[in-house]
Amino acid sequence: MAVIQQVAFILILAAISWILLRRVSLIRKTILIGKNEDRNDQPARRFSTMLRIALGQKKMFDKPLIGFLHFAVYIGFILINVEILEIILDGILGKHRILAPLLANSYRYLIGFFEVLAAGVLIACSVFLIRRYNPAVQRLQPARHRELNGWPQLDGKLILVLEIVLMIAILTMNASDSVLQKVGHPHYPVTGDFLVSSFLQPLFSNWDTAALVIYERVAWWLHIIGILGFAVYLTYSKHLHIVLAFPNTYFARLKPKGEMYNMPEITSEVKVMLGLENQNADAVVPERFGAKDVTDLSWKNLMDAYSCTECGRCTAACPANITGKKLSPRKIMMDTRDRLEDVGRIMQANKGEFIPDNKSLIGDYILEEEILACTTCNACAQECPVLINPLDIILQLRRYKVMDEAHAPGSWNAMFQNLDTNQAPWKFSPGDRFNWADAVR
Ligand code: SF4
Ligand code: SF4
Repeated sequence: MAVIQQVAFILILAAISWILLRRVSLIRKTILIGKNEDRNDQPARRFSTMLRIALGQKKMFDKPLIGFLHFAVYIGFILINVEILEIILDGILGKHRILAPLLANSYRYLIGFFEVLAAGVLIACSVFLIRRYNPAVQRLQPARHRELNGWPQLDGKLILVLEIVLMIAILTMNASDSVLQKVGHPHYPVTGDFLVSSFLQPLFSNWDTAALVIYERVAWWLHIIGILGFAVYLTYSKHLHIVLAFPNTYFARLKPKGEMYNMPEITSEVKVMLGLENQNADAVVPERFGAKDVTDLSWKNLMDAYSCTECGRCTAACPANITGKKLSPRKIMMDTRDRLEDVGRIMQANKGEFIPDNKSLIGDYILEEEILACTTCNACAQECPVLINPLDIILQLRRYKVMDEAHAPGSWNAMFQNLDTNQAPWKFSPGDRFNWADAVR
């Protein structure tokens, strides 16, 4: 029986590792279909931003209670997973609590510490799950935000339920293990009671040994398969931010938020018109102005899409959304990721090559009405806890519509015309600019 379990463990571990590697490689390839952009300047500043925002979760503490609970889940989940090293060794070698003899009495305190973290994760996840049903938290309500309908809503709840089940499995596994130690079962080395699970031992006090062993084994398998499955699930879920928050904050934009990226080709064109530069005969005219699809965005825009936690803080702060416009910056990020996932499927079916499918990000995923509603206020970029910049994508899509398709609302065209002829957005000649002063003389 022990050998069967050992072989089954090795096979499952190998299969899940292979699936995980494939998924990670596909996500990396889809991010890299984006345009090149150099974000390697100021490494010390970037590193400190990553430590503050991703590791320290600084922005989450804008709402202190939620920040504290989120930190508890995050630290708890990461540290508890250190325990997985022992489980993997046990599974491969067919042992049980292989580190217990090596760490002697400290083993009991180490597992006790993990149990305290597990209890913290259990409480925090339960609060988060209840909160998802609280209509007062409007940004999490699918009835208010259509982008949350279907999978995103299910994903948000599923992960919390999964974490609750995993934490219960850890605590009850340890409690049944402790009871088996006390009845002297040879497979269970004596470690002493653990800090939290000792309170759960009465649940198992009247069980016979065979039932206890079955329960302990089921909880052990549930724990390990749950964690390995969780790793694969992450790659399909918004919870990929657990990993990507680190590179995403490291490579975040360092320029002031209000500074828009100019298009060098346009800047040069204007300088030529103003006589500040000579026409460069060798200048390359870009194939496209702005972005029509994900392949026109930069790799950082695409990493942003995979890093989005779908928390909706951006949408809750967006003046366009608040005033009932169709725009939601969270939806912009989710649509970009959906498009990337579709592109990834095409690449997978074509040996890693993207064959155009007559679809594009603007038009098939994001509507013109959405991007035109943006006031470019930057509130979304300011609010994001993982330094995502939805405005950057919106601007690039808008530039494509206006400059490449010459498709802008009538009022905008009138403004462009005025800028062209009057060097101001209004329809007054530059010579009349100071007429207002006549009235006050
Ligand atoms: S920049 Fe645009 S998308 Fe972002 S909050 Fe302002 S209006 Fe909304
Ligand atoms: S872009 Fe940022 S603030 Fe908006 S939903 Fe995603 S993670 Fe949250």
